[in-house]
Amino acid sequence: MDFRPLLDAIASARRPVFFTGAGVSTLCGIPDFRGPNGVYRDPDAARMFEIALFDEDPSFFYRKADSLVYGNDGTKPGPVHEALAALQRSGLCAGVVTQNIDGLHERAGSSPVFAVHGSAATHHCRTCGDMKTFEEIRAIRGGVPGAVPRCKICGGVYKPDITFFGEALPEAAFDGAVRLASSADLVVVLGSSLTVQPAASIPPLALRAGGRLAIVNRGETPLDRLAFFRADDLAAFARAALAFAAARG
Ligand SMILES: [Zn+2]
Repeated sequence: MDFRPLLDAIASARRPVFFTGAGVSTLCGIPDFRGPNGVYRDPDAARMFEIALFDEDPSFFYRKADSLVYGNDGTKPGPVHEALAALQRSGLCAGVVTQNIDGLHERAGSSPVFAVHGSAATHHCRTCGDMKTFEEIRAIRGGVPGAVPRCKICGGVYKPDITFFGEALPEAAFDGAVRLASSADLVVVLGSSLTVQPAASIPPLALRAGGRLAIVNRGETPLDRLAFFRADDLAAFARAALAFAAARG
């Protein structure tokens, strides 16, 4: 696959924006929560994101989350996360919209990142609202399996700002994503099948404003016919984009 037409479009765009889904995180070993190998096939794992259960027994979530969310198994940003951060350093990324909850774009250095299903990049105390970063929560948990991080101020439990079942989508992130995509002259969809609404309604906003759409995803998406560039191999895109950014300095 020749990614040159896509990379040239990214380089000549005024405001290139990237929209990422589960395919980006599965490249670094995080399961696709909704995909064919997703944890939602395990009914126990699906329950970990129920807000009522979290408030009743937060240890259920934190036991499951050790590897899935907190990377106690060493999960790090993957090739696409690194590629987007490198493009940004070269002035070739105006922002990232992601459906992923793992906070890996933030950890790789992308900014702004609008996580439309919420993110573990920040946590809030359920009782007093105190905020802690991902790294602070990791430090509080101290690598103890299943440890529930508690607030020093009030003794409450910290919950990641991931959107759980039974919670509203994060309005500020969604509004930010809409503004970003509406102002983009190019949206590049990476690793999303564009089937989960309302997130999937975001990339087409660029088309309405006269922008262009490119899609790199294994498998079809409902917007394929609207894309000027379409490819399957996300890992190959990441390699090409990293090399492109490095060559531009
Ligand atoms: Zn508190």
